[in-house]
Amino acid sequence: MKDSYGRNINYLRISLTDRCNLRCIYCMPKEGIVKRPYGDLLRFEDILKIIKAAATLGINKIRYTGGEPLIMKDIEYLIRETASIKGITDVAITTNGILLCDMADKLKEAGLKRVNISLDTLKADKYKFITRCGNLDAVLKSIDKCLSIGLTPVKINTVLLKGFNDTEIMDFVEFTKNLPVDIRFIELMPIGEGKKLYENDNLSSEVVLKQIEDNFDVISQPTSKSSTVSLYKVRGYKGNIGFISPMSCKFCKDCNRLRLTSIGDLKPCLHSDKVINLKHCLNDEKLLLEELKRGILGKPEEHNMSSKHKSESKKMMYQIGG
Ligand code: SAM
Ligand code: SF4
Repeated sequence: MKDSYGRNINYLRISLTDRCNLRCIYCMPKEGIVKRPYGDLLRFEDILKIIKAAATLGINKIRYTGGEPLIMKDIEYLIRETASIKGITDVAITTNGILLCDMADKLKEAGLKRVNISLDTLKADKYKFITRCGNLDAVLKSIDKCLSIGLTPVKINTVLLKGFNDTEIMDFVEFTKNLPVDIRFIELMPIGEGKKLYENDNLSSEVVLKQIEDNFDVISQPTSKSSTVSLYKVRGYKGNIGFISPMSCKFCKDCNRLRLTSIGDLKPCLHSDKVINLKHCLNDEKLLLEELKRGILGKPEEHNMSSKHKSESKKMMYQIGG
């Protein structure tokens, strides 16, 4: 379905939980979060109802995220059921990759098409520092596993922080030499814990691309219209390098997505505080459809985070899912 600005909204990102097995410094507070009772969360059956209704409005892509989606018990069941919904052609997850290696076969068999794995450094000690507890080896094994079973393309999300991992930009580029992965450098956003780091640590994609071009023979790559990434590759390398630039180069005019939080808030825009809670209409198909349409038609034209350097969303990234 088209929104009020003529954008075709066909992508729903669903955060399954705000809990996580890591504590990335730009995302979660060190002490963790106040745990919501499980009763507050949408049940898988509720999520499937919402997807079925959304599919009749033209949603065909689903991405599960979190918090960490892979800590959810029986996620294979959810993926299998999602993949079988009429109209859904693409089921993906965004994960930190810690638990993925052992689950990848089952998830693929259930109908998972693709994974985005978050990885901000290739050094074990730095990984432990930025995630406050994670084991880099587990993530690297997951990447290899996904490539070996064809759970591809594997996209790697890397948030760059000045003075922390900007020294590794060229190592990440080299990572694409022999591995067919997309490394996507993401600009830090001033949302959640990211607000505290933004002023000192943000790095614009433009600066990073310039550095890469100074060191490699970089060629531009085509992307789809609704893609939020500008894509490049080093001539002769197997993988790609992408830039997701929500701060320096907004992609609102091509935004095709809605978001749903684990407590049932439909969010038409990542950076707006407008939400429509869907819990009240889960047993009323007609009303659920109306609320979804209201969400699509109420999607703002754009966010103004780039000028204000502050997201208007009152939710944290681990609640929305990125
Ligand atoms: N736990 C999963 C993961 O890390 O992939 C999924 C949820 S996480 C919130 C989704 C993405 O949001 C991750 O790639 C993470 O790096 C990114 N993210 C979190 N906080 C951010 C911030 N302040 N600015 C930019 N990206 C952020
Ligand atoms: Fe967890 Fe993902 Fe946030 Fe890191 S970025 S704390 S892995 S939700």
